[in-house]
Amino acid sequence: MRAIVVGAGIGGLAAALSLRRTGCEVTLVEQAPRFTEIGAGIQLAPNATRVLRRLGLLDAVAARATRPSRLSFRTWSDGGEICHYALGREAEGAFGGPYLQVHRADLHQAMAAAVPPESVRLNTVVVGIGQDDKSARVTTVGGEHLEADLVVAADGVRSSARQWLFGVDEALFSGTAAYRALLPAGEVAGLGLPEYAIWLGPGRHFVHYWVRRGELLNVVGVIGTQAAQESWTARAEPGEHLRAFDGWDPRVRDILGRTGTVLRHGIHTRAPLARWNIGRVTLLGDSAHAMVPFQAQGAAQALVDAAVLGDCLVGAAPSDVPDALDRYVSRRLAAATKVQASSARAGEDYHLPDGPEARARNARLVAQAAENEFGPHAGAWGIDAFDEQQASQDAVTAAVERPGDDGGARPKPV
Ligand SMILES: Cc1cc2nc3c(=O)[nH]c(=O)nc-3n(C[C@H](O)[C@H](O)[C@H](O)COP(=O)(O)OP(=O)(O)OC[C@H]3O[C@@H](n4cnc5c(N)ncnc54)[C@H](O)[C@@H]3O)c2cc1C
Repeated sequence: MRAIVVGAGIGGLAAALSLRRTGCEVTLVEQAPRFTEIGAGIQLAPNATRVLRRLGLLDAVAARATRPSRLSFRTWSDGGEICHYALGREAEGAFGGPYLQVHRADLHQAMAAAVPPESVRLNTVVVGIGQDDKSARVTTVGGEHLEADLVVAADGVRSSARQWLFGVDEALFSGTAAYRALLPAGEVAGLGLPEYAIWLGPGRHFVHYWVRRGELLNVVGVIGTQAAQESWTARAEPGEHLRAFDGWDPRVRDILGRTGTVLRHGIHTRAPLARWNIGRVTLLGDSAHAMVPFQAQGAAQALVDAAVLGDCLVGAAPSDVPDALDRYVSRRLAAATKVQASSARAGEDYHLPDGPEARARNARLVAQAAENEFGPHAGAWGIDAFDEQQASQDAVTAAVERPGDDGGARPKPV
């Protein structure tokens, strides 16, 4: 079996590795002249780290990662803790994979290093995808035609493949933008920060966590806004991020005041599709289901896509590809679409105005903490994607149903 994967982001790299595990001969085509990832953090929930383990990458990624023990929700004005959730050994035990916080470059490097260089075509822009009954093809900007039994389009939120397959549709602005920065640990020493916190305020929220084994603090401040460019490299105007969090808890202001370069990223999504595949060609990752990042699930869903895609192609012959892609999409589309919707709801919930709505939201978070020790995002971590996950799904059910006999391990609302 021969496959072409378009795009070497987290989704494309994972697809290439997953397909290689099935014995597929893979060509990975990327428009950038070299493998790159921007300087920012990424959270890898257990559904993501289970896939990394399956791809043989978990140890390499975990060696450079941070493992938070808990997530603390805080109020914007006085920093009081609303409640906290367990992410450490309890979550790993229940979901079968650790919760990791990683520098994107560390994750990307570990993944890229596992793809043989002879399988990679860098500096190659794909300008078209075609197919007939027997094979699929991509056309490059240089006029070359590459042929394979299947094409996986992992070309991101601004996917062109999506338009070639399903007609014109554009990335949708979410009405939110993220200020992003990384700070050396020394810059924030003495601020008394919780290890991982999401601070909730009217029309905005602020997230910080450690990456690279605590060497760097990753900060993300999300605001509601009319318009913002979809870019991983656009810089914020000087002081803009501080003005956006005027009046917030002094610790938030202190962090923001100590940042160097601050990037501003207009968050875009894609509308859910009724299908991702046609014949021998399929979408994967953000091209299929770009979502707002408020449950930290976009890359996780791309990783699970890749694992399921590989699973569906095990033992398949070239003539079986369209059916195998149907199976892949039927196992993934509804689950990923659900996470897209719940991520959007999480953003709305985070940004409620002060007053009765925010109080009701805080009460919900407290009640959830009493019922489910892993927090409001954990619903996505146990989605069954392949056989070994069923075992961890069973463990989750058992953990959630377990009576409160854990000797204080269950997080207490404060
Ligand atoms: C602010 C923010 C925070 C986030 N935090 C998290 C988080 O904590 N956890 C999480 O799981 N997710 C998170 N996400 C989501 C995550 O970053 C994305 O879902 C993930 O990176 C998507 O990977 P991808 O491979 O599908 O797409 P991309 O990473 O966009 O990769 C697409 C690749 O395709 C290439 N390409 C595009 N067009 C062509 C072409 N025509 N020819 C050749 N190559 C092409 C591009 O150059 C690129 O390399 C976050 C997103 C944002 C915006």
